[in-house]
Amino acid sequence: MAVSDHVDFPTFMEGVKKRNPGQPEFVQAVQEVATDIFDFMEDKEEYHSAQILRRIAEPDRVVSFRVCWEDDNHNIRVQRGWRVQNNNAIGPYKGGIRFHPSVTESVLKFLAFEQTFKNSLTGLPMGGGKGGANFNPRGKSDAEVMRFCQSFMTELYRHVGPDTDVPAGDIGVGAREIGYMFGQYKRITNRWEGVLTGKGMEYGGSQMRPEATGYGAVYFMENMLKHKKDSIDGKTAVISGSGNVATHAAEQITKQGGKVLTLSDSGGFIHDPDGIDQEKIDWIKDLKNNKRGRISEYADHYTAATFHAGKRPWNVPCDLALPCATQNELNEEEARELVDNGVMAVSEGANMPTTLEGVHVFHDAKIMYGPGKAANAGGVAVSGLEMSQNAERISWNHERLGEMLTELMEGIHDKCVEYGDQGDGYVDYVKGANIAGFKKVADAMLAYGVV
Ligand code: NDP
Repeated sequence: MAVSDHVDFPTFMEGVKKRNPGQPEFVQAVQEVATDIFDFMEDKEEYHSAQILRRIAEPDRVVSFRVCWEDDNHNIRVQRGWRVQNNNAIGPYKGGIRFHPSVTESVLKFLAFEQTFKNSLTGLPMGGGKGGANFNPRGKSDAEVMRFCQSFMTELYRHVGPDTDVPAGDIGVGAREIGYMFGQYKRITNRWEGVLTGKGMEYGGSQMRPEATGYGAVYFMENMLKHKKDSIDGKTAVISGSGNVATHAAEQITKQGGKVLTLSDSGGFIHDPDGIDQEKIDWIKDLKNNKRGRISEYADHYTAATFHAGKRPWNVPCDLALPCATQNELNEEEARELVDNGVMAVSEGANMPTTLEGVHVFHDAKIMYGPGKAANAGGVAVSGLEMSQNAERISWNHERLGEMLTELMEGIHDKCVEYGDQGDGYVDYVKGANIAGFKKVADAMLAYGVV
């Protein structure tokens, strides 16, 4: 047997950068995880000699394909689609599909890498994947979105399946897009099977799935506060985004007695000092889901609110912050502003919304900081439960799934504490999530030998 040649952290990262040129988001995600894993692996020769981290940081495969479709004016449009299958050591690949002009291979590789750890943390048997296209559904007619989704699935269907890879929604992919893709899969294969999650309730969807990510991020926040013998009741919250995750996070904060001050989209943010209560959240859901409107319209309708064009909400003083829009939407300066204004806790509904420098600011200030891979795992956890229900041809009710989600988020929180407790009363939730997520995947990979 060869004598193991331990690569140190800087050399490992040099290799990752060299092998992935022009992919900054992927390199950033690997760096964030590898920092903690190198500490954890220090005295664990078996992980080093089997090159486990190097293998997790190299996707099993990246499929890239052309997506052709015809717009309403009969122009032929060409987009690029991808599916990144990062790791299936503990279950079929699982992770969302994103349709947004900002989608690149680097973004999807980072998301599939993160998803591997997140899915492991849920305790359910799911590997990590992610897919998408640089297609912008905004401004497209329903018929155009349908034609795009059908064309996308006409290639994707070869690479997915209920025991192979089970995609879900993400940015730009909601119930409408999932419906079109599921319909096309069924048409091509002549099989009704649980190949996608986030489906409509009429055809195999799970209760609680729409709410799961946003509610879960708030449950994670609740657990962090409970660990410090505190609660959400009476606290102010700043939330970014106004899509699925943000609106459900706002709903759950409100249910627990908190006051939501902001929401946003890529055009800017609205600040409502009176609080965005349930009636206002319902109005926003209708605006976004049915009318496909912009968040700026809120300030025209609710005149106590102000709209801040081209800005992000992090300078609004608050007790709690929940970034729920997209990656790298909260930088070092903004993290400092939040801390200076007295923020107590941050729970990430989005994936990697805080830059590495921003995370350091939160850690240095010793505020409670729940990273996306732990805090937003409620969505994929309920997707895992949707897979189980489809496989068994049963459906659980809203109440039962609500209880399961609450328990799953508590379990994820506790695993983070187990591996992230610093011994001085501070919990490094990033470290806890990285190590707990890594260990299960790594041990399964060791069991398989060199594959
Ligand atoms: P939606 O498409 O429903 O909403 C996304 C929101 O974020 C919109 O308000 C959108 O505004 C805003 N946004 C997107 N890109 C940008 C940008 N570059 N700058 C500013 N704002 C932006 O997506 P979701 O709510 O489903 O997803 C939000 C985040 O949560 C993503 O990071 C996703 O990966 C993560 N997530 C989602 C899960 C789910 O179950 N849906 C599960 C786990 C994580 P606009 O319309 O102007 O683009």
